Amino acid sequence: MMTPTRYIVLVLTILISLHYILTITHEEYGKATAVSRLTNYIKGPQPPYKDGVPEQYYKPSDPVALPERKANATFVMLVRNTDGPGIMNSMKQIEDRFNRKFQYPYVFLNDKPFTENFKKYVSQLTDAPVEFGIVPPEHWKQPEWIDEQKATAAREDMMRNNVIYGGTYRNMCRFNSGFFYRQELLQKYRYYWRVEPDVKYFCDIDYDPFLLMQDQNKVYGFTVSLYEYEATIPTLWQTVKEFVDENPELLPADNAFSFISDDGGLTYNRCHFWSNFEIGDMDFWRGEAYSKFFDYLDSKGGFYYERWGDAPVHSLGAALFANKSQIHFFNDIGYRHEPFQHCPQGDIHTNGKCWCDPGANFDYEWYSCLSRYDKLF
Ligand code: GDP
Ligand code: MN
Repeated sequence: MMTPTRYIVLVLTILISLHYILTITHEEYGKATAVSRLTNYIKGPQPPYKDGVPEQYYKPSDPVALPERKANATFVMLVRNTDGPGIMNSMKQIEDRFNRKFQYPYVFLNDKPFTENFKKYVSQLTDAPVEFGIVPPEHWKQPEWIDEQKATAAREDMMRNNVIYGGTYRNMCRFNSGFFYRQELLQKYRYYWRVEPDVKYFCDIDYDPFLLMQDQNKVYGFTVSLYEYEATIPTLWQTVKEFVDENPELLPADNAFSFISDDGGLTYNRCHFWSNFEIGDMDFWRGEAYSKFFDYLDSKGGFYYERWGDAPVHSLGAALFANKSQIHFFNDIGYRHEPFQHCPQGDIHTNGKCWCDPGANFDYEWYSCLSRYDKLF
């Protein structure tokens, strides 16, 4: 005769075996009694979207065939932690319009430590490697030998003339002019593509601009060019002329001199390439001519006593020390940084699936310098 305990054990064994057999033989039964279902049961009723979208509706993404050949290149973004949303905005477009196919890495630079959230969110926007570098203070801070009284007076003077940017902006301009390409994380790279927060890329970029630079021996690429504010550079040209007089051998005969001066060098016409977009060769900045040039400008203190921008400084360097054929206009890259944009025209607009209004294009507006670039050739 069975004792009650034996009876209970037997019933339990039968039930468990039955459950086990049904789980294996009947999929639906298995799903219905899965652990997650049981926990859901314990939690109480859940809204239906919590189950997610059933597998059958997904289309697997086609594997992206990576290009056979790549340049030694990276994106570079100098950012503040508060630039997070603006950076994602720019980076998402870069990824969708270009980098999903090419997988170039990113280097983020900041004068302050990055937050963990910043690192996490930008990293998840791309499958390419992402690195974060902190700029050493000696590459960022106003140097000791700058006369702070003179610098303060200059800043206040400019504020009165409605040139609003303050001290950290000057650090940024000096850093972008002469230090970004010296950062440790960038040493392994030759070409860079500078990206700023909240810019727009209007078109598909289906080719590799870095390889174009490399194969055609280009050193500097731009999309927008315009005039600099006179108030930010009162003594820059005079300083450039002194340098050129002392180092004439650094200038190739077929440089882009007529892009920067209309009167054979007497004055600067204030034309410069807009440096918030740049695709360039860092070895050109690292080379003898530009290094000497930057050190000379820096020694005059104009980054602080005036507000020399990295755009005119890079542009003057490129126009003086490169061959004009080494400066490239990326006509097919639709681009906007407030308040100006380059919108490709005609077939280039169509082929690139651009979404800018071709009528809204800065190229030959009165404040643009593109016609001077055209006349070089
Ligand atoms: P604008 O385009 O001339 O108006 O200047 P932005 O405010 O866009 O600054 C230019 C670039 O330098 C952007 O990529 C900014 O994120 C970066 N930047 C500007 N100021 C600072 C700063 O104080 N610290 C850091 N880390 N980045 C800065
Ligand atoms: Mn900007």
